[in-house]
Amino acid sequence: MKTYSIATIPGDGIGKEVVPAGQQVLEALASTSSFRFEFENFGWGGDWFRAHGEMMPADGLQALKGKDAILFGSAGDPHIPDHITLWGLRLKICQGFDQYANVRPTRILPGIDAPLKRCRPEDLNWVIVRENSEGEYSGVGGRVHQGHPIEAATDVTMMTRAGVERILRYAFRLAQGRPRKQLTVVTKSNAQRHAMVMWDQIAGEVAREYPDVRWDKELVDAMTARMVNKPATLDTIVATNLHADILSDLAAALAGSLGLAPTGNIDPERRYPSMFEPIHGSAFDIMGQGLANPVGTFWSIVMLLEHLGEAEAAQRVMQAIEQVTANPALHTRDLGGTAKTADVTNAVCGLLKAQAQRKAA
Ligand code: NAD
Ligand code: MN
Repeated sequence: MKTYSIATIPGDGIGKEVVPAGQQVLEALASTSSFRFEFENFGWGGDWFRAHGEMMPADGLQALKGKDAILFGSAGDPHIPDHITLWGLRLKICQGFDQYANVRPTRILPGIDAPLKRCRPEDLNWVIVRENSEGEYSGVGGRVHQGHPIEAATDVTMMTRAGVERILRYAFRLAQGRPRKQLTVVTKSNAQRHAMVMWDQIAGEVAREYPDVRWDKELVDAMTARMVNKPATLDTIVATNLHADILSDLAAALAGSLGLAPTGNIDPERRYPSMFEPIHGSAFDIMGQGLANPVGTFWSIVMLLEHLGEAEAAQRVMQAIEQVTANPALHTRDLGGTAKTADVTNAVCGLLKAQAQRKAA
């Protein structure tokens, strides 16, 4: 029987709640499928940092390299500075495995009361493609004269032609595969007159390779207003590491909750394993209470299955998710409900098993 090896990295905060929930869903799926999963769990994150002085072992990537995919929770501990936790774990994996395409689908799931009053569920169906390997989060920069009045610090935005071309190609290809074949390229090329101007220029060049894709440009500030006021004019969106990070939290909120939103950190060339995770963080305010919405993780699992080529299984999980969101009794607190992480997880697992029984009958 086909077996996929999956690394699970819960990390910190509610990551420790939603990743085990995700593993439960994968196990329920496998028990009714023609494939299996072999899990290896890595206890990296804040606790690992307290014990070993680092968020993950220096040779940690070696242990992940042979996996078919990674399911990740969150990096972020209330007692460790955020830049240390994020760079020491999540970004180390994203950059180490050159997962340069960060893909973030957003739509309003059945039963979700999204906040925009002039937006029907069919008006908001987006995929945001985020450059995930360089740009504003390249890590290039430094601090000098620390603690002195003349102290200075820089974070250099690093845009390479190769990096910009490959993410734009990925976005055009993705747009091409969606029914509307439409792409919006977001920059800030009025104020940032070097790297952003190069983005726009390369977008024009790459666009010629995809004549069937309709595309337009939007400045990132105007983009926030367009997302709110004219959501139906958008389909696939591509933006830099920083811009897309911000826009996708907005997108998640417009679709009902940060707790629902999924993402994949993809190496399109499949040289390394790709990593799937909910877009939310550690949620210090609710961690350890069983209140976390696990749907963002389950939807990330749908993306993981699609990446593995298990399209039918992916559809089964998505269908179970939509049946669960359609039922207000299974809404967690972020959606205004009282259901716990475990209630939602058990419901999804139950539906997966029921689907299989129906099919067999
Ligand atoms: P956050 O996503 O952790 O929380 C923002 C708000 O959304 C909180 O009120 C939280 O309770 C709520 N929320 C988030 N996910 C939820 C869920 N599944 N169910 C219900 N409510 C949910 O963002 P933050 O507060 O800015 O960051 C907290 C920590 O997480 C920081 O250390 C940050 O660096 C880290 N972080 C990590 C990642 C990552 O590893 N991918 C992403 C974002 C933030
Ligand atoms: Mn973010």
